[in-house]
Amino acid sequence: MYRVMTEAEMVEAFDTAISDDQFYVCYQPQMNHISGSIVGAEALLRWKHPEFGVQFPSDFIPVLEKNDLIYKADQFVFEKVCLFIKTCLDKGLTPVPVSVNMSRYDIVGHDYVEDIEKTRKRIGIPVKYLRIEITESSAIGGSDLVSSVLDRLHTYGYIVEMDDFGSGYSSLNILKKLDVDVIKLDMSFLSENTGGRGGVIISSMVRMTKWLNTPVIAEGVETIEQADYMQSLGCNYIQGYLYSKPLPENEYLQLLERLETEPIKPASKLVKGMGVGRFWDPDSFETLVFNDFVGAAAIFSYEEDTGKAELLRVNKKYLEEIGMNVSEQEILATDPWESFSETDRKSFEATIKKAIESGEEETSEHWRLIRSKCCGDDNICIRAHVRFLGRAGRQDIIYSRIRNITGEKRAYQEIVDSERRFRAASEQANVYAWEYVIDTKEMHPCFRCMRDLGLPVVVRNYPEPAIEMGIFPQDYADMYRDWHRQLAEGVHSLEAVIPLTVGRVPFIVRYTNEFDENGKPVKAYGSATLVVDNK
Ligand code: C2E
Ligand code: CA
Ligand code: CA
Repeated sequence: MYRVMTEAEMVEAFDTAISDDQFYVCYQPQMNHISGSIVGAEALLRWKHPEFGVQFPSDFIPVLEKNDLIYKADQFVFEKVCLFIKTCLDKGLTPVPVSVNMSRYDIVGHDYVEDIEKTRKRIGIPVKYLRIEITESSAIGGSDLVSSVLDRLHTYGYIVEMDDFGSGYSSLNILKKLDVDVIKLDMSFLSENTGGRGGVIISSMVRMTKWLNTPVIAEGVETIEQADYMQSLGCNYIQGYLYSKPLPENEYLQLLERLETEPIKPASKLVKGMGVGRFWDPDSFETLVFNDFVGAAAIFSYEEDTGKAELLRVNKKYLEEIGMNVSEQEILATDPWESFSETDRKSFEATIKKAIESGEEETSEHWRLIRSKCCGDDNICIRAHVRFLGRAGRQDIIYSRIRNITGEKRAYQEIVDSERRFRAASEQANVYAWEYVIDTKEMHPCFRCMRDLGLPVVVRNYPEPAIEMGIFPQDYADMYRDWHRQLAEGVHSLEAVIPLTVGRVPFIVRYTNEFDENGKPVKAYGSATLVVDNK
């Protein structure tokens, strides 16, 4: 009866399975989606048990790892792969490199690198046909053990791949710490956990890997749409059911005979600018600066042809400045332009272009709509200082320092608004109005006062200029001066009919005093209303 074996059955059957050749290796091709050439293959282990049928790695690998049997299995796979490559070479075929999976348990208590080297030399194949896949999870924390294994693999000339990139949270940080040669990005990991925003995350990741000049293989690609999407990001290497399932050795050999082969090449280089790649190194000076010294900052990419922009990295202070409890994941997963109005987007794009051209820091102010899971939607005003860092392919990489100036803007807006209301009201009511600041003896006239009486925005040493100009006639000058003394002493209000200007037109002139919390007079509101002749 074919079924998944139990752990006990697997452990019991393992030794016989190895000696009886129940294990065999399948090869899954890795293709260049543009050229249709094959660039490599991954070796995947299968176990065909005579009684229980084919067992899959997702079931038996964890059991082998737990029971200290994985090392033997992985050495078995490595030897089979070497023998297969030898067969290809003997047939005069150009093989492509084969990726072999290394378990994290392979390097604990074993001499993994020395052992595979012995096998390779015994069989006699060049190291360039072999790649070793290490998983992202085994590299978490970037342990010294993993680093030293990686160094030794490199010393012998092995290509090292980071498997399941993007599955862990620390992806970005371990990337630069571990000097891998190829990155494998699993489509399924990324689309599952990101609420439909996988695309943005994938594209950011591909872009980041480009900065490091590391080629990317997209894994688990099942549809042509996925492959085309990856291609649009400049990631042309595809491994997945779209091209082929893992094939038994003989079928893979036939495929290899038919297909063109080519080597994997790094993606486009960062041609200009500083070492942006170092931003991903948690220990680099740049990262230190980014996190601790520069204030709120972000790095984003901008494509001039299409106007597309993507946030690639933000620091903690950036999130604090935005406020509203938005997480880094949330903010990276959002299309930044979504939060801009059409006009603000245009002006910000113009600023970016200016910064690219000038190489200088350029400044822009704009409003953004921030959507937060916990705090709802809110508009915030941002002042951004942008600087061009470099170019990766068609993408310009921009560094942006920001400050949230919403508070200042709102306060300013309030003044503008109240002044507008104030002016509109006085305009209609045939009233002249002004404010008198008691401390400074400054008078701030309304718009109508300025227009009709030719007053400046601020009149100093009030009321003297108004008396001099003849707005307040001489016979009322002393009374009017005395009013301002009274205001300073704390009178609450004053009122009188005064004939104003040389025409001596009668107005009701009023003052209302305003006090601070200590009862000290601060400012008085003056008005002059035309006395309407009711006769
Ligand atoms: P992996 O290294 O991430 O290998 C890729 C897995 O994705 C393979 O599953 C492959 O068959 C599957 N796959 C390939 N294309 C597609 C696709 O288009 N869609 C979907 N949904 N899946 C696809 P497999 O062979 O079952 O291997 C599972 C895992 O077991 C591997 O994941 C690897 O971690 C481990 N493994 C396999 N062989 C070995 C081995 O020889 N040694 C060690 N240590 N681990 C192995
Ligand atoms: Ca793998
Ligand atoms: Ca994988």
